Amino acid sequence: MVSTPNGTGTVDPEMSPAAMAVLADRYLRRDDNGRVCESVGQMMDRVAGFVAQAEDAYRAHEADRWAARFSRLLRSREFLPNSPTLMNAGTGSPVLSGCFVLPIEDSLDSIFTTLRTTALLHQAGAGTGFSFAHLRPRDDRVCSTGARASGPVSFIGLYDAATQVIRLGGRRRGASMAVLDVHHPDIREFVTAKSDPAALPTFNLSVGVTDEFMLAAVADRPHPLINPRTGRVVREISARGLLETIVAEAWRTGEPGLLFLDAINRANPLPALGALEATNPCGEVPLAPNESCNLGSLALPRFLSGDRIDEQRLGRAVRVAVRFLDDVIDVADYPAPELAAAAHATRKIGLGIMGLADTLAALGLPYDSEAAVRFTQRLMYRISRWAHAASRALAAERGAFPRYSGSVWAPLPGGPMRNAQVTSVAPTGTISLLAGTSAGIEPLFALAYTRHILGREFDQVEPLFERLATERGIWTPALAAEIAATGTADHPGVPADLRRRFVTALEMEPYWHIRMQAAVQRHTDAAVAKTVNLPETAAVGQVHDVFHQAWRAGCKGTTVYRSGSRRDQVLRPPPPG
Ligand code: UDP
Repeated sequence: MVSTPNGTGTVDPEMSPAAMAVLADRYLRRDDNGRVCESVGQMMDRVAGFVAQAEDAYRAHEADRWAARFSRLLRSREFLPNSPTLMNAGTGSPVLSGCFVLPIEDSLDSIFTTLRTTALLHQAGAGTGFSFAHLRPRDDRVCSTGARASGPVSFIGLYDAATQVIRLGGRRRGASMAVLDVHHPDIREFVTAKSDPAALPTFNLSVGVTDEFMLAAVADRPHPLINPRTGRVVREISARGLLETIVAEAWRTGEPGLLFLDAINRANPLPALGALEATNPCGEVPLAPNESCNLGSLALPRFLSGDRIDEQRLGRAVRVAVRFLDDVIDVADYPAPELAAAAHATRKIGLGIMGLADTLAALGLPYDSEAAVRFTQRLMYRISRWAHAASRALAAERGAFPRYSGSVWAPLPGGPMRNAQVTSVAPTGTISLLAGTSAGIEPLFALAYTRHILGREFDQVEPLFERLATERGIWTPALAAEIAATGTADHPGVPADLRRRFVTALEMEPYWHIRMQAAVQRHTDAAVAKTVNLPETAAVGQVHDVFHQAWRAGCKGTTVYRSGSRRDQVLRPPPPG
């Protein structure tokens, strides 16, 4: 660790300049004069020490031992918790969970109570998700005043405005997911609410669709719209027509996505507590109202040992990471008592993976291949088994989660679980940058690209590609320039096997994005964050196919992004030429 001459930050030789910039700007502690006063290692110790305090409540004098173990794990960057834990642990800011789902009932009291909670959560850097399906539709009666209701979309606008104001002062962009059930009478207004790409900038929108709706679209049958206040069908529309509008909007702007509510509820660990209707902003955690989830991700490339994954080391990291995430629930504080109660009742955590694409490239498995899908599915199976075993071991030590007896886990063999949900695969937008890996389970975006972070530009080249190209003696300034221009290895100077192995997101058939998402989903308790990236030239029909494939493959949701269709892209390939 070296102090920079101007004293405004520290440089960690292991961290990229982009990672250091983000850390110094948002994560590292500052003194009273606003100067960074913490190194990266000290940040890891702060987080580890704070989280390990939970241990003393279960067994005296254990905290120090676990603080040391957690610290080793974080410093190795084999595992990192979600950003709010890194930023807030031990700083007096109590919120440590990455995401919450909050209730919105059909009353002004509920709408404004939840707005207040949302504001406090966004201030702390957490993300929020809501189902707006319980709100009466636009122009419906408001009995108390004789006036007309303004409908869900207007209230999404209210939430968006509040979040934008809080963002101005915040360290991290508050983000939300709005879900509207496909039966809501305002569904068309919702589907087109982000037609203007500048609208609702703090929201992702997802239509909550049922299997019945998807089947009706396939068979071209009518679809009922139901007023949630009265439970009555107000009219029938063409299911196919509505799905076509959703597809066209998604093609044009990337919004809305789909949530497959039946797939989500088939995997609901606590059906007795009610159906799951919403997820966090990036879709990887379906939750009941007031529930939250602490996410954390394993950096897969750190477990590479020669041409394989060191499974012993990975298994050990999974055990410690599950314990860490369970401890986070106890040391966190929540800005409303019902959030604390919900977190403690089901103890949902979300252990996931990042750096999949880097790992596949290192192992010589092209992302768009059966071999890569098989490898990933098996790996996720192992991680899931270890993670569940770790949760059971914690239950033996500390007791099952309080709602265990009413959960789907109860009749299963293996003994009680400490956590109603253990695994979830997050986008890892920032923590993958800190870990120096590719994000989540996404394919490589480009082999060379410019990251736009905090108003600065950082040029990056895929390090493994550069190393292998150098070893083979083909890494020349001309090739570097070519790859900087196109972002891909599709160049006559690059041998075919290297080209295949470093295939980028836009070069592969969209089908492979879905295959990989479905393979990971099979062994993930919650959901999987995945965006199907499409080239600018993609046809509307391809979006249609992606949506149907994702539904049939058993995914819990799907989102597309066509290059150039939105302005606020964080990662942008360098312009050609
Ligand atoms: N999230 C958010 N604002 C952001 C990025 C993320 O609220 O700017 C929330 C959101 O709920 C998302 C979750 O954090 O689903 C995890 O996102 P990611 O893995 O990218 O976060 P990281 O921990 O890498 O910062």
